[in-house]
Amino acid sequence: MKMKLAVLPGDGIGPEVMDASVRVLKTVCACFNHEAGFTKGLLGGAAIDETGSPLPEETLKLCRESDAILLGAVGGPKWDHNPARLRPEKGLLGLRKAMGLFANLRPVKAYRPLLPAAPLKPEVIDKVDLLIVRELTGGLYFGQPSERRGPEKESVVDTLQYSKTEIERIVEKAFQLAQIRRGKLTSVDKANVLESSRMWREIVDKTASRYPDVEVEHMLVDATAMQLIARPGQFDVIVTENLFGDILSDEASMITGSLGMLPSASLRADRFGMYEPVHGSAPDIAGQGKANPLGMILSTAMMLRYSFGLEKEAAAVEKAVDAVLAAGYCTGDLKVPDGKIVSTNELADKIIDHLKENHAKSLHV
Ligand code: NAD
Repeated sequence: MKMKLAVLPGDGIGPEVMDASVRVLKTVCACFNHEAGFTKGLLGGAAIDETGSPLPEETLKLCRESDAILLGAVGGPKWDHNPARLRPEKGLLGLRKAMGLFANLRPVKAYRPLLPAAPLKPEVIDKVDLLIVRELTGGLYFGQPSERRGPEKESVVDTLQYSKTEIERIVEKAFQLAQIRRGKLTSVDKANVLESSRMWREIVDKTASRYPDVEVEHMLVDATAMQLIARPGQFDVIVTENLFGDILSDEASMITGSLGMLPSASLRADRFGMYEPVHGSAPDIAGQGKANPLGMILSTAMMLRYSFGLEKEAAAVEKAVDAVLAAGYCTGDLKVPDGKIVSTNELADKIIDHLKENHAKSLHV
């Protein structure tokens, strides 16, 4: 397999976690006999400093010519007081939009060595392995321009709008993902109140007839918020609209209590995707070798699985992460009891060693 990858390290700890992840990916390629080309591009604050734009045309061109995008993180205090068009996050939002990425995937998984430090009881989260699929480009955040009305601007309007096509494509994606996971889909809405939710339900039910192997349930968003804390182990794939997904995915990300561990993917209907950790640029620890690279490394595993169909390779990276944590290695943000705190690069080295040891037979270095 040949992979053409756009690498956008961004700001703060972005370049550190990206370097670590690219080294891990190179090892995967060597072990499993794949070829990957890595081309770096500027995004966010780094791009503003160099070119005057948070999303330079050259970066867009690079992304359009690539098979997938790897993104570190953007932002930092240096650019906090810039005008809106010169903010680092403008680059990130612009890139998602320009590439038509409408499905945001956030997996949440419990790692045994991290259970004691998680906010919920270990027995509640022990078996958690869920995936939230959030619609990313429609709904309340993208309706008719919000406005204040009335002589004294005493009323306000935000519009929640979805087209049938927008709902169909995200629901389809969620069914496909449930099919390659454990075959269960929870569709989350507020159908007792919202017309958009009633249309969402109809589309889910209609799509379900084409996926007889997927078990479907509907759950109201308020009930889901409770169930995620009470019994998170019941969920496999959760699909929901933009605003509900924004809130539920942040709630779910805290179940295991480790921001630095969380990967994400933003996909469109074909296999193209952008892969990035959930965390930000962490300016407080940037440049100190303290950043946890696992969120970025696990994002590259998602890329192998979803953009290239390389399930064995993705699982190898995930197993290596499991094994390294189980051996007690961690960065300072992870509260592994009796853990050995190592640097960003040392943690990546441990993952690389594990991959080499377990896939040495096919090693092509
Ligand atoms: P943050 O995620 O950067 O940091 C929150 C806390 O978690 C900090 O204490 C940080 O040190 C810690 N942390 C985060 N990632 C870590 C990692 N990999 N390893 C160890 N510790 C880690 O969120 P913030 O402080 O609210 O935002 C900082 C900057 O990042 C802001 O400019 C914000 O706009 C930006 N941001 C960017 C993205 C993105 O690029 N997708 C997402 C969120 C925030």
